[in-house]
Amino acid sequence: MNMNMFPDDIRPNLIPEPGGRMFYRCLGCENEFGIDNLLYTCPDCGKVLLLHVDPPDRIKRLSGENLRRLFDYRQMVKIPELKGIYRYHEFLGPVTPLDSIVYLGEGHTPMIEANAVLQGTVGQRFFFKNDGQNPSASFKDRGMASAFSYINFLIKSGRFSEILAVCASTGDTSASAALYASYLKPHVKSAVLLPHGKVTPQQLNQPLGGGAAVFEIPGVFDDCMKVVESLADHYDVALLNSKNAWRILGQESYSYEIAQDFDYDLSKKAVIAPIGNAGNITAIMSGFLKFHRAGVIDTLPKVIGVQSEHANPVYLYYRESDPALRRFEPMTVRASVAQAAMIGNPVSMPRVVKLAEEYDRRAGERKVFVVQVSEQAIMDWELIANRNGHIACTHGGESLAGLIQAKNQGLIDDSDTVVVDSTAHALKFSGFQEMYFEDRFPEEFEISPKSELINAPVLVRSKDLDEFPAPGRPLSGDAMNRFVSSTARDIAELLKIEKK
Ligand SMILES: *Cc1c(COP(=O)(O)O)cnc(C)c1O
Ligand SMILES: [Zn+2]
Repeated sequence: MNMNMFPDDIRPNLIPEPGGRMFYRCLGCENEFGIDNLLYTCPDCGKVLLLHVDPPDRIKRLSGENLRRLFDYRQMVKIPELKGIYRYHEFLGPVTPLDSIVYLGEGHTPMIEANAVLQGTVGQRFFFKNDGQNPSASFKDRGMASAFSYINFLIKSGRFSEILAVCASTGDTSASAALYASYLKPHVKSAVLLPHGKVTPQQLNQPLGGGAAVFEIPGVFDDCMKVVESLADHYDVALLNSKNAWRILGQESYSYEIAQDFDYDLSKKAVIAPIGNAGNITAIMSGFLKFHRAGVIDTLPKVIGVQSEHANPVYLYYRESDPALRRFEPMTVRASVAQAAMIGNPVSMPRVVKLAEEYDRRAGERKVFVVQVSEQAIMDWELIANRNGHIACTHGGESLAGLIQAKNQGLIDDSDTVVVDSTAHALKFSGFQEMYFEDRFPEEFEISPKSELINAPVLVRSKDLDEFPAPGRPLSGDAMNRFVSSTARDIAELLKIEKK
């Protein structure tokens, strides 16, 4: 839409000007630090940080209604930098000028309402929000767009000339980091550390294809994370795990989009997401809180985190109902199909504790919950979802299994509308589907396939034929006609369909 056509009150703020102030605040000692240096932990006490955003004064003066109008009108702006998570520039990094923003197509993932069959089975109105439709096929792109846009700004403003981005990963962080880093060639290079044999072939191929230096480390994610933390402490590298508060900031866009897609009415709504390193659930709570404080939304939705029984330290923490008695214990994880969430010592746990407390206080009642689900339920619900038109990954299955569990525990009313987070694309985790269909799960997963959910290709090689086409050896004439009609007849018999 042409600039002149926007309303007078919208035009001055439509294209964001850099401004405002941002600073890190420590979750432990609450000391504040400027953002000129990339910090991952508090220089004073070593605890994790969150980024605080103080928007420019002209934005702070806007009412909730004004902000809602601004974001709605921004949907019509054609500038690529405003088409992704930076539609909410004022909340996601107002100091970053537009020309530093890296936009690779992330954000504004669709909310797909489940069909009548699936809503009937589940007994709830719900949507999948498909974060697998981000460029590297997981929600991690939201946080990377934020972190790399700021890195790009630091490079463009001459504060750094070269950056080596490093991360530990259960697969998707490295896929995303490698993608954004490769876009910022030649100034940024990336190195990723993966637990050997604990990421899917698709996830391994992503950073390899992006040209990152890929290192496989014995152990599980928690071990990789320790090595990366040591690298960040002792060498000149940029840490891209969600310990980096810029990641959390970008992932808050998930909540902003849900708010906007429901026309900012979040009463009787619930959002359900898997918890691994707990960055995503942190960002979801933080995003809703920021919109609530700014008056953009009036109601905080319920937020329900889900963990597998095989990697459930956050669930175990909240199982104790008396906050004074809660104790966080890192745990040893077991094999999980929700592999990207197979984390026993989540880096963002202190953030979760703090934000959940603030969330419930602000809501005036308990609105943050954590449930656990079995590996069997994760797989079964993923497959059921995808048999009804979805592209949920195993973690999407985990979220849906979490919805069922939350209903059973009375945490969700039948009249609530629920958004279920499918955090990655089904294809990244298709190996688990294959193991299910072929009944090849190692015992440690504790998954037995249900026959009604199994699917397999049928090789149709008609017994009446002695000649078949092959690559480079096509059939022709009568041989081809016989091949086509016999094969079609065999398929019709298998499908039990009548001749017309
Ligand atoms: C990273 C990841 C998670 C876990 O998110 P956290 O922020 O680590 O809690 C869940 N699902 C997928 C697909 C992921 O890539
Ligand atoms: Zn501190």
